[in-house]
Amino acid sequence: MNGKELWIAIIQQLEIKLGRAPLLTWFKNTAILELKDGVLTVGLPLPFFLNWHATHLAGATLEAARSLDPTITQIMYQVELGLADHDPRSVDLNNYFPEKTARKLPGRPEVKIEGGLVSKILNPKYTLENFIVAPENRLAHAACLNVAKYPGQNYNPLFIYGGVGLGKTHLLQATGREIMRHDPKKVVLYVTSEAFVNDVVHCIQTRSMEKLRHKYRKVDALIIDDIQFLANKDRSQEEFFHVFNALYDGGKQIILSSDQPPTALTLLDGRLVSRFESGMIVDVKMPDFETRLAILQQRSHESGALVSQEVMEYIAYNADRSIRMLEGVLKQAIATYELEHIAPTVKSVSDILRHVKKEVKPVGFIANDPTPRTAITLERLIDCVTDYYTVPKSDVVGESRVRECMVPRQVIMYLAKMRLGMSLAKIGEGLGKRNHTTVMHAIGKITEQIKNDRQLLCDLNAISREAGFASAPDQWQKA
Ligand code: ADP
Ligand code: MG
Repeated sequence: MNGKELWIAIIQQLEIKLGRAPLLTWFKNTAILELKDGVLTVGLPLPFFLNWHATHLAGATLEAARSLDPTITQIMYQVELGLADHDPRSVDLNNYFPEKTARKLPGRPEVKIEGGLVSKILNPKYTLENFIVAPENRLAHAACLNVAKYPGQNYNPLFIYGGVGLGKTHLLQATGREIMRHDPKKVVLYVTSEAFVNDVVHCIQTRSMEKLRHKYRKVDALIIDDIQFLANKDRSQEEFFHVFNALYDGGKQIILSSDQPPTALTLLDGRLVSRFESGMIVDVKMPDFETRLAILQQRSHESGALVSQEVMEYIAYNADRSIRMLEGVLKQAIATYELEHIAPTVKSVSDILRHVKKEVKPVGFIANDPTPRTAITLERLIDCVTDYYTVPKSDVVGESRVRECMVPRQVIMYLAKMRLGMSLAKIGEGLGKRNHTTVMHAIGKITEQIKNDRQLLCDLNAISREAGFASAPDQWQKA
């Protein structure tokens, strides 16, 4: 294999992970410049590729390279402007990766599964190893470990419930990844309830329900997050019931999460609830002080920020509602530090906390929701959106004009206006000091697009729920 062939093989592996669109963006005009003493030097055509490759793609690239040539131990990047100009070493991606029936909107990288199934790639930041185990979530974690090893065997379905921000999505995604890691041939599908409903609606419209049944039945493990969202959606429940039975009878694993235990899901079909009850039901609760402190230590270690023990203890003690809140306070403290070079102190952190807690309003019309929501700020919205689309926050807030960042940025602006009621000027200010006309333009664009882009609508709903907005209006246009 020469350098070019090796590069093609590596990119082919990465396509499965990343999807075609990000691949075309980030690997266009790239090439292997050298392979020497286990160091693979990758040439990039533009300086701004460097940061993205180094922070987002290096791990996956190395992994792919190693699987093809185990002697490779390191990846180095080198910018070579000449590569942009039909360099013979670079790969013509359009040729090797012809357009399939890919959806137009960039989103989180997806995997296409045979039969038209599309699974969002499971976020690699969630693993079973980096989930900190405490008495409050030990059983849930243990059940996930078991399911990851023996899918469809011992705990089926596995039903995880608990309040907002306590680690359900983390566990679900991590388990899905583990199943695939144990057996790469296994087809794992992770969908949010919104995506499922979206699929059902589409099949009703196009009278292709048979197809839907057929494709969902092909998976080895079906993971549906926030199943409570199926409440009152009778047709979706009906379809899910069929899918559930088919998978269950076929010994396939089903993993579900919800904000409440099955018995409390009164708006779900009783038949479904009793199916859920036949499996393993575990809950996640807010961990105690020591565990919260351990999570903070892990997070600050990951981010490379130096936060004093005293400050961490203060946060761990006071951020007592959800792990998301805990992480949020730490993130804000670190962000302030990076912007203003003021090391977090108990005083500065207590200001952040006061702000976060003051705006906590229990949301009335979410039935029986025991968990008060943390304040939804622009900061939090940006986090949610960039997480959802797996794009780096700094690029979205910054100048980047690649398409992968443009849509998330527009979505943030749209939601900030529609759900937070922020002024155009404030939104622009918070998003890299952009002009209010830019913001207006972005909002107009999304408003237009959701009229006939179901995927975008589905994304908006999922993001809204993730961010903790009480409920999504049925008609975004009119919101
Ligand atoms: P949920 O889906 O229950 O609302 P998430 O899974 O999104 O909550 O968790 C919120 C955040 O808290 C995520 O960033 C997740 O990684 C983190 N988190 C939750 N529980 C743990 C844990 N036990 N150890 C480490 N991180 C955790
Ligand atoms: Mg979740």
